[in-house]
Amino acid sequence: MNTRQQELYDITIIGGGPAGMYAAFYSGMRAMRTKIIEAKEQLGGFMRTYPEKLIWDVGGVEPIHCEKLIESLEKQAKTFDPTLVFGQEIASLERREDQTFVLTSKTGERHYTRTILLCAGRGMTQVQKLDIEGANRYELTNLHYTVTDLSRFADKRVLISGGGDSAIDWANEIAKLAKQVIVVHRRHEFTAHEQPVEQMRAACQVKMPYSISRLYGADDHIEHVELVHVETGAIEQLDVDEIIVSHGYDRDFGNLSNWGLEREDYGVSVDARMRTSIPGIFGAGDFITYGSKVRLIAGAFNDAVLAVNSAKLYLEPAASDMAGVSSHNARFFEKNKALLQQ
Ligand SMILES: Cc1cc2nc3c(=O)[nH]c(=O)nc-3n(C[C@H](O)[C@H](O)[C@H](O)COP(=O)(O)OP(=O)(O)OC[C@H]3O[C@@H](n4cnc5c(N)ncnc54)[C@H](O)[C@@H]3O)c2cc1C
Repeated sequence: MNTRQQELYDITIIGGGPAGMYAAFYSGMRAMRTKIIEAKEQLGGFMRTYPEKLIWDVGGVEPIHCEKLIESLEKQAKTFDPTLVFGQEIASLERREDQTFVLTSKTGERHYTRTILLCAGRGMTQVQKLDIEGANRYELTNLHYTVTDLSRFADKRVLISGGGDSAIDWANEIAKLAKQVIVVHRRHEFTAHEQPVEQMRAACQVKMPYSISRLYGADDHIEHVELVHVETGAIEQLDVDEIIVSHGYDRDFGNLSNWGLEREDYGVSVDARMRTSIPGIFGAGDFITYGSKVRLIAGAFNDAVLAVNSAKLYLEPAASDMAGVSSHNARFFEKNKALLQQ
């Protein structure tokens, strides 16, 4: 075990999505010794599932490809040099007599901390794959579960299966450059937002209520698909170059579900100061729920600020309610000087 792992941190953030990354920056503003533990090998969280998507709804940021936004958040998260731990899924929690916590990963590594900030989002998400025998053999060629490079679809016939926000967002982006986009959905209604659905209907061919029943390929490359009408059983064949399956993700909170935290249907309950039912444990982002919770990147940032402030006050009840704004925060004085000199 390395020494930094054995040290006692003021705050340990579980999850390195937008909530966790922004919390790491803000806890630096509050001069807290900070560690982020992320189960995957990189920061970014759920945003990694839509790297090519243009994000419009983050305050003060012009429309930006999601991977660029991750880059900026990552840079900001590292401002105060937090300890970053990758590839460890935190599983168990122990409270010691001195009220500090020990977190243990699934692989047995231990982490010591005075407070915990849960930013585990949708947990260990697993993509819902196409339930058709042999489908996995096309995963390295033209069957996709996410889109990492839009240009791949230029001038091609692209079939997109799904009816949620992701499927419809991809259809709208890909329709701008593909030869043809066909959206296949097994229900009569889309669950995606109305406006993008209208846009998609104008630009794409829609087959509903249909689902993919067979894939036909040669050399591990799908050449055409069989669709089945989910009510009549009628069969249709379509020639395609690329298939994108966007059937959502399974949420799996693993052992975090066994910590005894109060929860509601959609997440762990917190109060208005992002305190969970266990003193010393706070939450932010999609992992938590409260009356007016906003499940957006901007909502995650706001939760993170509130949660870090609460953790600071838990450790130091006499501390101020919030960090000094960046113009008055002594932690920026040296950094400002360095920036102005550049
Ligand atoms: C299709 C789709 C499109 C979206 N588009 C937008 C958009 O345009 N604009 C917008 O503002 N929002 C959008 N959102 C919402 C946005 O993605 C989420 O609100 C945001 O990702 C939540 O961030 P988070 O940090 O709470 O969780 P996540 O991003 O889910 O990150 C959680 C992290 O915790 C890690 N983790 C989980 N359990 C453990 C554990 N036990 N130990 C260690 N690590 C763990 C995970 O690996 C993950 O990296 C979209 C969501 C979807 C589904």
